[in-house]
Amino acid sequence: MYRRQCQLHACSTIFVQHNTSHCHSRCQMGIVMRRLTQSCGLGSSPGHGRWYLDETYREKEGPKPPMRYVWRNIILMSLLHLGAIFGLTLIPSAKIQTLAWAILCFVVSALGITAGSHRLWSHRSYKATLPLRIFLTIANSVAFQNDIYEWVRDHRVHHKFSETDADPHNAMRGFFFSHIGWLLVRKHPDVIEKGQKLDLSDIKADKVVMFQRKYYKPSVVLLCFTLPTVVPWYFWNESIVISFFIPAILRYTIGLNATWLVNSAAHMFGNRPYDQNINPRENPLVSLGALGEGFHNYHHTFPYDYSTSEFGWRFNLTTAFIDLMCLLGLASDRKKVSKEVILARKMRTGDGSHKSG
Ligand SMILES: [Zn+2]
Ligand SMILES: [Zn+2]
Repeated sequence: MYRRQCQLHACSTIFVQHNTSHCHSRCQMGIVMRRLTQSCGLGSSPGHGRWYLDETYREKEGPKPPMRYVWRNIILMSLLHLGAIFGLTLIPSAKIQTLAWAILCFVVSALGITAGSHRLWSHRSYKATLPLRIFLTIANSVAFQNDIYEWVRDHRVHHKFSETDADPHNAMRGFFFSHIGWLLVRKHPDVIEKGQKLDLSDIKADKVVMFQRKYYKPSVVLLCFTLPTVVPWYFWNESIVISFFIPAILRYTIGLNATWLVNSAAHMFGNRPYDQNINPRENPLVSLGALGEGFHNYHHTFPYDYSTSEFGWRFNLTTAFIDLMCLLGLASDRKKVSKEVILARKMRTGDGSHKSG
């Protein structure tokens, strides 16, 4: 028999397990602790528990279904990256205000993904008031990485069926596939099947998210391309070509690749101090580019932690942003894993790399 206290809510409930793997006792807040390896599986409350690894899933045996290319996406992505390279060549001719504006657009769009569709909507790791949700939704359209509803669905499936056929960007299929290739081919049937079965009721109940979904295309035209282009051209007489190719095209392409590196590089390169049995890694370089999302071994081990890291603001602008929002009264209920739980987990399943650094 195994006993463990609820660490997540610091309530006094003791979970009692009768075998080494699963437990279905509930804490005072109605939370089920599912596995010994997790402090508290947020299994029973709406919006939670949808991102834990489903260990019952088995890939189908036999040959894999043939890859079907999506030529529209291949052509658009190729043009986009060519445009971004052209944008790079324009940097020496751009005004300093234009470069500052491009960086601002990048940071805002990245927060729409990291603080928005990832930490708030996919993982429910903190709560946000209506004004903050509206801001994050606008920022999310600047990023143009599918609407929030679709992003959350793909991301929850990624956590639940990580590194299998049902994972949309299954890193077992190589760097290119997990980086961009998954957007250039039709989804594996298991991704579609598992995505359809996923409970997204919490997302459907969010009127701001559903409003964005309804008006997604015009919002992207306006916020990802038109606004970033018009501001430098109108306010400081930047040339229209530079205004389009740097703050819109180049900034958008860098934002996409920063996010994709979390799916590719952070699933392949780095240490695994929290759980050496899973592929996601700690990758500080990816964290730097993706505003704190590269602590990926930690994140897949403790997906409900609002900081996606145990190191606070280090390489983690998103955590600083969420903390600031809390200070301003726009966010609350940040979920955090206790130091004791993290240490115990490192000792039990980590690769030992935390001792050396
Ligand atoms: Zn991942
Ligand atoms: Zn995640």
